[in-house]
Amino acid sequence: MNRIQSPIQGNNNNAVFETNIVAGAGMEDGAGRKELEAHWARVCDRLRKEIGDKAFKTWFGEVELGELKDGKLRLYAPTRFVRDWVGRHYGDRVLAYWQSVMPDVKNVEVNLVPPPAPRRPNEIIAMPPVPSSHSHQPPMPRMGPSIGRGADELSQAPEGRYTFANFVVGKPNEFAYAAARNISEQDMPLPERNPLYIFGGVGLGKTHLMHAIWHVIRERDPKTRVLYLTAESFVNRFIQALRTKNTGQFKELFRNVDVLMVDDVQFICGKEASQDEFFFTFNSLVEQNKQIILSSEKPPSELQDIEERMRSRLGSGLVADIHSSTYELRLSILQTKAENARVPVPANVLEFLAHKISTNIRELEGALNRVVAHGQLIGREITVEMAQDVLHDLLRQADRKVTVDEIQQRVASHYNIKLAEMSSPRRARSVARPRQVAMYLAKQLTTLSLPQIGKRFGNRDHTTVMHAVRKIEELKVSDLSIAEDVELLKRQLQG
Ligand code: ADP
Ligand code: MG
Repeated sequence: MNRIQSPIQGNNNNAVFETNIVAGAGMEDGAGRKELEAHWARVCDRLRKEIGDKAFKTWFGEVELGELKDGKLRLYAPTRFVRDWVGRHYGDRVLAYWQSVMPDVKNVEVNLVPPPAPRRPNEIIAMPPVPSSHSHQPPMPRMGPSIGRGADELSQAPEGRYTFANFVVGKPNEFAYAAARNISEQDMPLPERNPLYIFGGVGLGKTHLMHAIWHVIRERDPKTRVLYLTAESFVNRFIQALRTKNTGQFKELFRNVDVLMVDDVQFICGKEASQDEFFFTFNSLVEQNKQIILSSEKPPSELQDIEERMRSRLGSGLVADIHSSTYELRLSILQTKAENARVPVPANVLEFLAHKISTNIRELEGALNRVVAHGQLIGREITVEMAQDVLHDLLRQADRKVTVDEIQQRVASHYNIKLAEMSSPRRARSVARPRQVAMYLAKQLTTLSLPQIGKRFGNRDHTTVMHAVRKIEELKVSDLSIAEDVELLKRQLQG
């Protein structure tokens, strides 16, 4: 089901608020647990008096006392949202109160309650359960003994809510949905539908469909050995196997599956050795009549840096695309998700969101979660104005359409070169680099295709644009000043 989770996304860091740590104050945790708890009770009392019962309950009701070590006191918040809110709005006060009862406390840190078990969403493997020595535990899906190393690492559960039942079907995704359902219900793979290749833009439901297939296959026959992993994980494993000279085990892992699912295969592009290995794995499974299911952001024909034999292999089965969403689909997804929310969301708010947030379903979900969380936690009535307010950052982005002209002007003036250099054939680094930055930004901030962007930069080929995009992506990692330039320009253009 759709639990509303922490609505603030993308920020994994723990909120820290601290005072200047007094030099040389090497604090030890002298306080016993009981004492610490008594102090916490006092701090809570003061907080409650100061901010009122309701706010106290909302923000501190589920905050737990952690430990004190080296002068650092840890608190644990149930969600990221609460953690960030407490840090931002009550941080100073909490610290001051602690210091009034326990001068030893030099800073307070709010962490997220640690999750019960580490998750590794990149890989799921389900193999027939082997008799377990821990018979008191429910049998976890895990690999057969022949596969050896890494059983724990791979025994992951798929995302429970990613089922066909929770997938809202509309025009843009009906074909991919039907293909996925069909494959999941086949007893034997049909050669003309092997591999199933699902492609579509970011956040449009590819991973959701892959997991849904996984659920059905396993429900139909729990003995089926299904391996799901991202292409990134495939590559990493392969590199690791090469490094530790363990390719035998690596190959063994794949040889023993009935169904292989690889998510985001576009990641393999340009990685030659991994591609060869993938090709090899692929062929051997197809020969054994094992089903292969792939997802990708691009159709096989648009994958770059990939061998022809690989491209034709990828496209040799059933290719199903997910188109970008329509208003109707977005609205119906929102309606479904809102039904599961704990507070009612008025129809006009859902319409507003479906209208305004058209990038992808993930953002749409995030927006709804944020609105609902505000309604729920702060007790604010959910209205269009409230949604506008809560989502102002998202909406501003959505409203703002950046053009290539603007990008070229900004970048040229930032690097102090003539606008004409954006389309000139000159290759001197002093103009070529800014041009690449501009191409990169055009790819990031507009919806134009690579060939369309190339045209706007002096009729250049799409491969030139692609090269520029890659180059800047690389430089952003290795060259801080480029990274800063790009961030700054991006902000100016979107602002
Ligand atoms: P992708 O793998 O294509 O980038 P995901 O499968 O991760 O996208 O989908 C992003 C989010 O949007 C997920 O939470 C998913 O459940 C949700 N989602 C996407 N499409 C649908 C849909 N048709 N119905 C319900 N939820 C959807
Ligand atoms: Mg995905």
